[in-house]
Amino acid sequence: MPISIFNAKPLQDEAEAYAFVEARVWPNGPICPHCGGIDRIGKMGGKSTRIGTYKCYDCRKPFTVKVGTVFEASHVPMRLWLQAMVLLCSSKKGISSNQLHRTLGVTLKTAWFMSHRIREAMRIVGVEPMGGAGAIVEADETYIGRIEGMPQARAGGSHKNVVMTLVERGGSARSFHIEGKAIADFMPIIRANVNPETRMNTDEAKHYYDLSKEFAGHDTVNHSADEYVRYTNVRWFPEGNPYIITTNTVEGYYSIFKRGMIGIYQHCKEKHLHRYLAEFDFRYSNRVALGISDDARTDLAIKGIVGKRLTYRTAAD
Ligand SMILES: [Zn+2]
Repeated sequence: MPISIFNAKPLQDEAEAYAFVEARVWPNGPICPHCGGIDRIGKMGGKSTRIGTYKCYDCRKPFTVKVGTVFEASHVPMRLWLQAMVLLCSSKKGISSNQLHRTLGVTLKTAWFMSHRIREAMRIVGVEPMGGAGAIVEADETYIGRIEGMPQARAGGSHKNVVMTLVERGGSARSFHIEGKAIADFMPIIRANVNPETRMNTDEAKHYYDLSKEFAGHDTVNHSADEYVRYTNVRWFPEGNPYIITTNTVEGYYSIFKRGMIGIYQHCKEKHLHRYLAEFDFRYSNRVALGISDDARTDLAIKGIVGKRLTYRTAAD
C-alpha cells in the first residue's frame, strides 16, 4: 500500500500540527510575539487551555505560534492549514478555492481566505538580487486577464494586465504586475532585482533597449523572424564558457502560469494578481529540478507565514 502524505500525523492531529509549525517558525524555541522575550516562557497545559498556548512571564501575555503570522485571527484548525499548504505547495498549476472547499470540508469563503493567506506566506521578501557574474537572467512579459472596467472587445493587449517575469537560468523566478509598457515602467524593477554583473536575454521589445547600458551584457532574440536556437545564437562568457541566447526559460514559466491562471483560477481580480504571481514564482523557484522536494517546499512556505499578517473583510473581494 502506498502511504498518502495526508496520513502524516501533523495533518491529522492538532497538537502534532502545532508542534510541526512551531519547529519551523521557532527553530530555537518559542519567542514571545508581544515583547520579543525568549527566556521566561512556559507552555500552558490543562484541559481548558487551547492547544499550542504559551505564556510569557516577562510581559504576562499568552500567545500561540499563530500570533503575528498569516494564520492570526483565524479559527481554522492548524492541521487544515497544513493540509491546504501541502496541496498549494505541491500542485504545479495551483488549487482553486472551490477545490480546497470540497477537499478540506471548509466553507468556500474560508477556503478563499486560506488560499490568499498561503499565497502571502509564499511571497518572497528582502532577498538578494538575482544573477551575478556568469549568470543569465531572461526577462519577458505577458498579458493576463482583463483590467476591470475596460471593455472586453477592445483590440490588442491594452485591456489586459502586463506581467513581467525575470527568470535566472537554472534558478529562481520573480514576476511583477506592471503599470504600463514604457521603459520607465520596466527598468526600475529590473535594476532593483538583478545584479548588474548578469547577462540579460530578452526579445527585441523597446522597453529592454537600455539593459546593455546597465548590465554585463544584453542579448536579444528576434521572435518576429521566427529565430530558432542555432549557431549564431551562441555567445561566450569572458572566461570561455558558451551560452545560448534564448528566452525559452521564461516562456516555459509562462506556459505553467497561464495553464494555472486559465485552467485552475479562471483569471482573478487585478488587485489580487500579485498574489497569484507570488504563488507561481514560489513553486518555480523551489522546484524539484533545483533539488527541492514537495516536503521541503511546504517547509519553506511555513517559514514564510511570519510577519505577513493579512486580514480580509469579504470573500467577494
Ligand atoms: Zn512577552
